[in-house]
Amino acid sequence: MKQILTFMVGLVLVSAAQGQKINSTIKRCYTVEYIKKLRAQNPNLQTDAQFEAWLNPLVKQHKLKKRASNYKVPVLNYTLPVIFHIVHNNEAVGSGSNVTAARIQAQILQLNKDFANLSGSPYASAANSGIQFALATKNPSGTTLAEPGIERINRTTKGWKASPYDFDYVDTTIKPGSIWDPTKYINVWLVDMSSAGILGFATFPSLSTLSGLEAIETDTTAGLAIDPATVGSIFSAGNCGAGSRYTLGKTLTHEMGHFLGLRHIWGDQDPAPCATDYCDDTPIHYDANSGKPTHPKPNSCGTADEMFENYMDYSDDNIVNTFTADQVDRMQTVLLNSSRRTTLPTSIVGFTYPTGSNKIAFAICNDSLIVTKFTALDNN
Ligand SMILES: [Zn+2]
Repeated sequence: MKQILTFMVGLVLVSAAQGQKINSTIKRCYTVEYIKKLRAQNPNLQTDAQFEAWLNPLVKQHKLKKRASNYKVPVLNYTLPVIFHIVHNNEAVGSGSNVTAARIQAQILQLNKDFANLSGSPYASAANSGIQFALATKNPSGTTLAEPGIERINRTTKGWKASPYDFDYVDTTIKPGSIWDPTKYINVWLVDMSSAGILGFATFPSLSTLSGLEAIETDTTAGLAIDPATVGSIFSAGNCGAGSRYTLGKTLTHEMGHFLGLRHIWGDQDPAPCATDYCDDTPIHYDANSGKPTHPKPNSCGTADEMFENYMDYSDDNIVNTFTADQVDRMQTVLLNSSRRTTLPTSIVGFTYPTGSNKIAFAICNDSLIVTKFTALDNN
């Protein structure tokens, strides 16, 4: 339901040191490269083909079941608990990588809008995923968190080197040194990866453990890592350079898509343009898009117009707005079948929805970080 916009109560200008910048050689997502690297280190890991041979019949069964039962609702509804591990260099809250709770809340609200198909998709095939995310309220010991959904980690207390980090360090040191039980929490690490220009990477779900095949994701790596500069919402105002292209919170939406089994819309074969993402209602893309393409965008695969607004493309944050019904069926099937996914909906760690406003604007422009706070939730 639409709500009337409310009042702006504060405007804060923060010094240059508190702004985060994303460098100009941006790698939107490192998930595919990450998996390739792991496979190169261990040839016994399950392949994409093996995963798809396992998942696609299950997706078909899921669709048939929906049709047979004449679902009154198109999808099953889930709420999944999230913990953000904010890794910082002993900065004050609100500075550098040590982002505020308000900003985390704005990010979760954005994620929920995107997964509920409330972000303005123009496509009839767009669908509400039924999947929502909330902030965990307890740590693995059962202690109530001072800030829901947030663990702040001063990296010096762990003996970790100073940021920025490459993804190897994140995967082999930071994640194993801080992960919470991945059968109960979705682990999201906020780590400065700006030197490598990486905005995010996620672990991909695995086949059932009954498969006998070695999983790519493990109990010490399962989760998503994103650069803190990407954390925000559509109200993260910005039209001020390359960095602002990726500050509206859509990086987490993209990586969560991978975490729940979605492939890039152009398929992930290399070098093989016009590959499939195993979803019938997404058009075949030639390759990744970037920036802000315009319609129609035909390609040599035979597609009359590409769907560059899909979250699983690489377009700018302010134009992506679509998960399709087939993408939703894949995510729903993964939640019903994949290791470290099936247990998340019934996790007993407790959760709460953000109580703050998503109308917090973060404009990272030039040398200042501009924070604009509003008082109430907006569901427009
Ligand atoms: Zn990706």
